[in-house]
Amino acid sequence: MNPKPAVLLIEDEENIRSFISTTIKNHGYKIISASSGIEGLHLCASLCPDVVLLDLGLPDIDGIEVIKRIREWSPVPIIVISARTHEQEKAKALDFGADDYITKPFGTVELMARIRTSLRHGKQIGGTAMQSQPPYHHKELTIDYDKHLVTLSGEMIHLTQIEYKLLTLLSQSSGKVLTYSFIMEKIWGPYVDNNNQILRVNMANIRRKIEKNPATPEHVFTEIGIGYRMAECE
Ligand code: CA
Repeated sequence: MNPKPAVLLIEDEENIRSFISTTIKNHGYKIISASSGIEGLHLCASLCPDVVLLDLGLPDIDGIEVIKRIREWSPVPIIVISARTHEQEKAKALDFGADDYITKPFGTVELMARIRTSLRHGKQIGGTAMQSQPPYHHKELTIDYDKHLVTLSGEMIHLTQIEYKLLTLLSQSSGKVLTYSFIMEKIWGPYVDNNNQILRVNMANIRRKIEKNPATPEHVFTEIGIGYRMAECE
């Protein structure tokens, strides 16, 4: 039997800590919790959790600092717990190496979905040889990476090379938010102008081609002020 995945929770507010701990335990995971950044870093190093849930507002060191220190030696998935209004802070956390974020207040279903996605991506990072990737499926949309083929209800969708690269990038991290700056750098390289206009234009074109109603997308979601998230592969 596989050991239970362990989640390290770094959160100073006691009621949130106890809510999250109980939820995670009830879903069959092991929970380790810390109430400060330094304690969290020690537990992370000594117990090697499978996922870290990190509150950014901690009493001793800044959450961003915790991310930077963990990233010096560990690729463990980090999910940031943040307040609704702190878009810039969330984007910064992602750019410093956090994998995802969850916004307070959140429910059990959302929390567990984020943890599952992070565990899956964590395994991919740790896995061996890159094999040919299975196709992405969500509702009527399919992306076959081997054939470079995107279909909607079986009909082939014509995408430009940039549009295909964008959709591939998002779908290969499906369920996870990717920041504007991360996407810009991956697609257009490190010297691209940091104006997101070119990205928005391309995303609008993709949506026109793959969404039934581009105003209420079903496949690629905008995380305002942060980036895009593609619906999780089914
Ligand atoms: Ca806090």
